Amino acid sequence: MKERIQKYLARCGVASRRKAEELVLSGKVKVNGSVIKEIILIDPEKDTVEVEGKKVKPEEKRVYIMLNKPTGVITSAKDQFGRRTVLDLVNVKERIFPVGRLDYDTSGLIILTNDGEVANKLMHPSKEVNKVYVAEVLGVPTKQEMDKFKRGLKIEDYVTAPADIKILKNLGRTSVIEVIIHEGRNRQVRKMCDAIGHKVIKLKRIKIGEIELGNLKEGEWRYLNQNEIEYLK
Ligand code: URA
Repeated sequence: MKERIQKYLARCGVASRRKAEELVLSGKVKVNGSVIKEIILIDPEKDTVEVEGKKVKPEEKRVYIMLNKPTGVITSAKDQFGRRTVLDLVNVKERIFPVGRLDYDTSGLIILTNDGEVANKLMHPSKEVNKVYVAEVLGVPTKQEMDKFKRGLKIEDYVTAPADIKILKNLGRTSVIEVIIHEGRNRQVRKMCDAIGHKVIKLKRIKIGEIELGNLKEGEWRYLNQNEIEYLK
C-alpha cells in the first residue's frame, strides 16, 4: 500500500512527520536515486528511500513467540535437505529466528524472536538460565546414578555443570524423569542420561527460565504475554 513520504520517514524513526516534510522540501530526500522536492506517495515494499545519502528502513516491531516444536522438525532457519523447520510452523511477517536449538527428535518449548539482545541473554552460558526437560528413559535411575548426574558427569572432553534430576514416574521397563540443566551443549541431556546408563527414548523441553510451555499443543505457537516479555528483557 502506498504511503506519504513524511509518514514513511517518521515510521523509519528519521524525524517527526512535520520535520520529515521539511527534509523533503529542502531536497534532502531521495527516492529510487532521485531527489524529491515535494510530498509524494511511495510504495514502502518497492521504493528505496535515502535521507542525506543514507538508506532508511522502518524499524521492525520486536516480536516474541513460543512454539511447541514437534519431533521431526529442525530448529535451524533453513535445511539443505528440505526438511520442515520451526520457521515453517510460525506465520509472522517479521524476520524471526529460533533462540538456541532442540534436536530433530526432541519436542517442546522453543522461543523465536527478532530481538538479538534477548536471544543472547537466554543463551549465553554465563547467564546460567535453567532449562527443564521431561524425558522417558530406559530403566529406572538409582539414587547413586542420580547423585552422579547431579554432581556433574564427564562427557567426551568436558564435565557437565551440576544438574538436577528426579523421577516423576516409574513405569517398570522405563521411567519418566525431570532434568534441569543450564548448559546447552549438543544433545546434552541425551548424553548425560546415556552416561548413567539410561538411554533417552523421548525428550521434551517444558521450561526455559521463567517461561513455561503450559498447555500449548504440539505444532502450535503463541505470542509471549507482557509478563513473559518483561522477564526476558
Ligand atoms: N538436550 C538434548 O539432548 N537434546 C535437546 O534437544 C536439548 C537438550
